[in-house]
Amino acid sequence: MDAADRFDVVVVGSGFGGAVTACRLAEAGRRVLVLERGRPWAPGSFPRTPHDFQKAFWDPVAGRHGLFDVWAFHGLNAVTASGLGGGSLIYANVMLRKPAEGFADAGGGAGPWPLTREDLDPHYDRVAAVQQPVPYPLEHPAYAATGKATALAEAAAAMGLEACRPPLAVRFAATEGGEPRPRAPIHEPLPNLHGVPRSTCRLCGECDIGCNDGAKQTLDLTYLTRAQAAGAQLRTLCDAQTLEPGDDGGWRVGYRQHVGALDGVPAGLRDPQADPRRVVAARHVVLAAGTMGTVRLLLRNRTVLPHLSPAVGHRVSGNGDQLGFVRGARRGGPGDEERPWRYLDPSHGPVITTSVRVPAERSSCGREHYVQDGGAPAFTEWLWHALEVPEAVWGERHQLTRRLRDRMSGHHDANLSDELARLLGSGHMSAAMMPLLGMGLDVADGRLYLDQDGRLELEWEDEQADGHYAALAASSQALAAAMGATWSRAPARHLTTVHPVGGCAMAEDPAHGVVDPGGNVWGHPGLHVADGSVLPGPVGPNPSFTIAAVADRFADAMLQDGRA
Ligand SMILES: Cc1cc2nc3c(=O)[nH]c(=O)nc-3n(C[C@H](O)[C@H](O)[C@H](O)COP(=O)(O)OP(=O)(O)OC[C@H]3O[C@@H](n4cnc5c(N)ncnc54)[C@H](O)[C@@H]3O)c2cc1C
Ligand code: SF4
Repeated sequence: MDAADRFDVVVVGSGFGGAVTACRLAEAGRRVLVLERGRPWAPGSFPRTPHDFQKAFWDPVAGRHGLFDVWAFHGLNAVTASGLGGGSLIYANVMLRKPAEGFADAGGGAGPWPLTREDLDPHYDRVAAVQQPVPYPLEHPAYAATGKATALAEAAAAMGLEACRPPLAVRFAATEGGEPRPRAPIHEPLPNLHGVPRSTCRLCGECDIGCNDGAKQTLDLTYLTRAQAAGAQLRTLCDAQTLEPGDDGGWRVGYRQHVGALDGVPAGLRDPQADPRRVVAARHVVLAAGTMGTVRLLLRNRTVLPHLSPAVGHRVSGNGDQLGFVRGARRGGPGDEERPWRYLDPSHGPVITTSVRVPAERSSCGREHYVQDGGAPAFTEWLWHALEVPEAVWGERHQLTRRLRDRMSGHHDANLSDELARLLGSGHMSAAMMPLLGMGLDVADGRLYLDQDGRLELEWEDEQADGHYAALAASSQALAAAMGATWSRAPARHLTTVHPVGGCAMAEDPAHGVVDPGGNVWGHPGLHVADGSVLPGPVGPNPSFTIAAVADRFADAMLQDGRA
């Protein structure tokens, strides 16, 4: 093997776990290679038209190398990302810490997490220093109140629940700590790895389909830019497939390079060799391919991992996710008859601005959960609006027939603006609704496994969540009612999660988990896992901050005990 393909550390995947690990180890002077199966997505390159969206899915067998990797298991759907920066490219930027009391119980009888909030706090702090999350600056005139943020906060207050504006990894100001101002050019002390300009948030609600302004602090613009500046090599469209022990005590990683999709990928973000099949070697391999990616890699390579824990694939949770919709929000005050609708304006603002915590003692299942406002791009408001248009056309049919008759008989007023506006309806259906995002402490007892054709499958029962989904639905319904609205669950056959965790749980012994509390795979020195799969149970709030903090802690462990 060429010396150029030997590294101290190979990191597989570039999401929250992979980006933090790569940056920490590269900045400590290690020779680091990051393999990322997806392509780079610079601000400005995210799809917006139906034609571009059609190409935006990840299915390399079908020739698709896009951003969205959608899984439909029996019982649970999941949405993840493929691209340099992983889930940060399409996440809603919320960075909340896991409450201290949640570490005492991993759920489903698995006992406590093998670390505490106190252990993680210094790592949360270190990640926050890089990602710079700040609450939505609602009080600032330039970012004046968004309907959905204030409506949810008021509903929570009416119910005596705690609501906060969660820290968002979004730039609202051009400089750190500066005055918030929309569309201002962002000052970057270290130019981002794409070499493109960025500007501050313009409130377009498009965070979950990629921010074309570069206002989101995605990992390619933060940790991975720093990793590359510290000497890490970043190779995109490189899909790790095989793992095997090397003859020098290290590891070899075989990967498939999606050479057909490399057009337009800059030299600094691709493998210098253009071969479709490649192998690299390293003393340490850190798997950070996300819950599904890492579990699949381990299961497919099980024959060369004789000591792999039987717990692999177990303890999977969807972090209790449940998507619903608030519809028909109405004002209820005196004098509101003239303007009955309460506009939530889902496409105005970042996707999430407010988070309501329902503590264990207020939750019917006795486990805490969270409800957050959901934003959506403006084009989705047109889809909702389309439901209203037939009703408007029906209501205006007599008027319209009369005008047409007048026109044909020569007695007409040339101005049709009023009729056309009426035909569009009032627009209240799309303006008085919003997605409502729920999550919390479900029970981590899903199991990922390979079916007889080698495909990843999931064993999953909603009932196992021990009343969590019913409790979350009750809170969502009550919050919607406090907004003068109704709530309904998203009309899908199964639940959909955007927060899959578990499958390689960390534990004090190999009978209960795949990695030790430092991220080392039990029984296989030099092999590590650092992503959402190591979490032994649901986080409760959105998990990315906890995944990043755990990865930061694992990087410390690798460096401090001299392993890496
Ligand atoms: C729409 C949406 C909104 C979200 N909003 C939030 C939010 O507001 N706050 C929050 O905390 N969380 C949010 N999340 C969840 C968050 O994105 C994930 O929890 C987080 O990204 C998981 O981090 P990870 O390191 O485990 O894996 P990922 O971030 O998924 O990274 C894994 C990476 O590995 C790559 N990979 C996979 N297999 C291979 C392979 N074989 N070879 C090479 N590379 C591979 C993938 O392409 C990916 O880039 C959201 C997710 C979605 C989808
Ligand atoms: S609201 Fe728009 S500009 Fe602001 S972070 Fe989200 S996608 Fe970017």
